[in-house]
Amino acid sequence: MKKIPLVDLKAQYASIREEIDGIVAEVIENTAFIGGKYLQDFEKSFAEYCEAEHCIAVSNGTDALFLALKGLGIGPGDEVITVVNTFIATSEAISHTGATIRFVDIDPFTRTMDIQALENAITEKTKAILPVHIFGHPAEMDAINQIARQHDLFVVEDAAQAHGARYKGKRIGSLGKAACFSFYPGKNLGAFGDAGAIVTNDAKFAENAVRLRNHGRLTKYEHSIEGYNHRCDALQAAILNTKLRHLDHWTEKRRAHAKRYNEFFSDTPEVIIPGEREDVEAVYHLYVIEVPNRDRVLAELNEKGIGAGIHYPVPLHLQPAYSNMNIARGQFPEAERSAKCIISLPLFPELTEEQIQRVADAVKLAVKI
Ligand SMILES: *Cc1c(COP(=O)(O)O)cnc(C)c1O
Repeated sequence: MKKIPLVDLKAQYASIREEIDGIVAEVIENTAFIGGKYLQDFEKSFAEYCEAEHCIAVSNGTDALFLALKGLGIGPGDEVITVVNTFIATSEAISHTGATIRFVDIDPFTRTMDIQALENAITEKTKAILPVHIFGHPAEMDAINQIARQHDLFVVEDAAQAHGARYKGKRIGSLGKAACFSFYPGKNLGAFGDAGAIVTNDAKFAENAVRLRNHGRLTKYEHSIEGYNHRCDALQAAILNTKLRHLDHWTEKRRAHAKRYNEFFSDTPEVIIPGEREDVEAVYHLYVIEVPNRDRVLAELNEKGIGAGIHYPVPLHLQPAYSNMNIARGQFPEAERSAKCIISLPLFPELTEEQIQRVADAVKLAVKI
């Protein structure tokens, strides 16, 4: 039996090879490697895509989060609230500014930030809320923004898994102060290497992010502050701009595949399918189900050459990196419970009906064991 990978980057490249090879050759021909036209073109199109005013392309998603927080003046003594069921980049960005992480639990249906938990976590030191649109499902932005307004807090979205997702009709990207994207190769819009972006409607904040990204300068020789080298290179920008034209089509495919999986599992109550609120359009970066006998199901799938994964097996507060926070097991019951039951099934635009059926059949067999 042919293997079914979790993500198939080769299939995607094969479908757009000529366009990609053409643009890569063009950038090299022009030796326009840093800054310049290709970067600006991508920033303009990605801002438009996100229905936002400004896009600042940067080196990766982690740096996008870091620069956004830094650009808002967040640092030592401040607290930033985020969830425990995310990739560690989210919380690293907080720590790297010198601020303190305040973890909260998640809502069982959307697996995004629990609103009551958020309210309970606010202190006098809270400066920002960092919701994660996990697996491509938007967090409850209206409730989060309302709490932010009440307490005078910034909202920075971790949109690394949610390119093109919609919340109440609006694209992710202009719902908070800033939205941070990753273009890691396996993300819904992936570069051929590392890249990321900050998207915002605030011109002053955008200018500050541009400065921080490139050694504190807006012009070649004047450094108004010390900054960083967190630039996005032009090859990645040109590749991303080329791939962006296909993103809506790829997202439609992802949504259709998720629907197909849901249909296959409709007669199997042991499988909990991913929740999608009626007022959002999730973009299924991952298709994550819950099953009672997770480790067994995972072993069966791997046995059959099906590349299932777990995102994420250990909630962040239980990672060794955060043992110094002394957060006991049981503190975030929903995230801890779901971490034991979740499996990410293969989901990528080029997945075929036959592959979906094979995966679904294998899961349905394995949950009965
Ligand atoms: C991928 C990811 C990041 C980090 O992005 P990089 O480009 O890999 O630095 C941050 N947050 C989440 C939720 C992610 O999935």
